[in-house]
Amino acid sequence: MSHTTDVAIIGGGVIGCSIAYQLSKKGIKSTVFEKNKLASGASGATAGIIGPIWYLDHTIKPYFDMGMRSLEIFPSLVEELKEAGIDPEFQQNGGMKIVLDEDTNTLLLDNLQWQKELGIGVRWIDKQELLEREPEITDQAEGGVFSPLDASIRGAAYTNSLAHASTRLGMTYLEGMEVTALETYGDTVIGVKTQSGTYHAGHTVIAAGAWSGISQRWFSSSIPIRPIKGQRIILQKPGFLPKCTVQSIVPQADGSILSAATREEGIFNHTITGEAISQMVSAAKAIFPTLNDAEFVSAKAGVRPGSPDGMPILGPIPEWNGVSIASGHDHVGMICSPATAELVSQYVETGDTSELEPFGISRFETSASRPAKTLFTNAKYNE
Ligand SMILES: Cc1cc2nc3c(=O)[nH]c(=O)nc-3n(C[C@H](O)[C@H](O)[C@H](O)COP(=O)(O)OP(=O)(O)OC[C@H]3O[C@@H](n4cnc5c(N)ncnc54)[C@H](O)[C@@H]3O)c2cc1C
Repeated sequence: MSHTTDVAIIGGGVIGCSIAYQLSKKGIKSTVFEKNKLASGASGATAGIIGPIWYLDHTIKPYFDMGMRSLEIFPSLVEELKEAGIDPEFQQNGGMKIVLDEDTNTLLLDNLQWQKELGIGVRWIDKQELLEREPEITDQAEGGVFSPLDASIRGAAYTNSLAHASTRLGMTYLEGMEVTALETYGDTVIGVKTQSGTYHAGHTVIAAGAWSGISQRWFSSSIPIRPIKGQRIILQKPGFLPKCTVQSIVPQADGSILSAATREEGIFNHTITGEAISQMVSAAKAIFPTLNDAEFVSAKAGVRPGSPDGMPILGPIPEWNGVSIASGHDHVGMICSPATAELVSQYVETGDTSELEPFGISRFETSASRPAKTLFTNAKYNE
């Protein structure tokens, strides 16, 4: 059986659903193919920290700009999504990194210099203010840096809200529908193959997260995406909730507390391990000793899509027409989702690749890849 759609999007995670939403606003009808449930991959296991100044390398301008542009888009985007019916649980209550030793003191002070120049109110806070803000914080904390525009979002709610809003604008979401191959004609991709038949499409976007690497068996060229597993936990302590994200401890809208995350290179499973849970419980208690008797609520694992240099891979696939990739966001897929969708949907609409160039897959053919730097990966504090 054969069906048609303007754009086929493989993967119902935050990246696929964000692109679908932006396309729907442009009146371009797409179909999202999700082999399990929406947000069943990394997007449902995320910590949801929206803090570009900590997690993106500010010396790589297009990459850093993508994070800052997203920060700018989020407030209006979440209003649209709420209005459409599902609250993505976005909370813009700031984020804080604290001084626990001489090394973090130096790192925070060094970075504060360029962070102040961003003009978004990033500032030093001394021990007294820290204690006023977060009375339960560890005695060892000597001060810190506060970033008032940092936020957090609930990954599964956000992904589902994007799908819900775009469905209202004519998108189709097919859950439990695995894409098993691409339909090609010469060097042009003309759709996707599934167990329910072929869907012809004018353009196909591979947004399959960590599974995007597997799609290289459909091409002669390589898709250098590797799996990086992450686990995170939820705790609850009646009467206690941090006022903002501190390190990787994130207050949730329902009053629970998320602690994140492990970083397990090359591991492609969703197993929750006792070791990871105890590491994250210890990390949370080290920041907020009052969590010593917190209730353990749940744990979740997901697999991040990693790229050789840590930056996403966006845009066409060399030697093929009618297909592009949007993957490899590693630990910043939530942060970068709005700007990614803006760039990719613009490219799908116009065919203009100029804005996507820094993220093109061809960069791996020409230059030696280097790992992108981040100031504070989640791993730094919790692994
Ligand atoms: C523990 C943890 C903590 C994190 N914390 C943060 C954070 O604080 N801030 C942040 O910005 N980012 C964070 N991240 C990273 C972020 O969650 C990811 O970068 C993002 O979710 C990736 O989204 P995605 O849509 O590319 O992939 P996914 O969410 O994995 O979605 C890909 C989807 O494609 C589907 N799929 C795959 N193959 C096929 C196929 N052949 N046919 C149909 N469907 C297919 C999968 O089932 C999956 O649902 C974290 C991740 C983890 C695991």
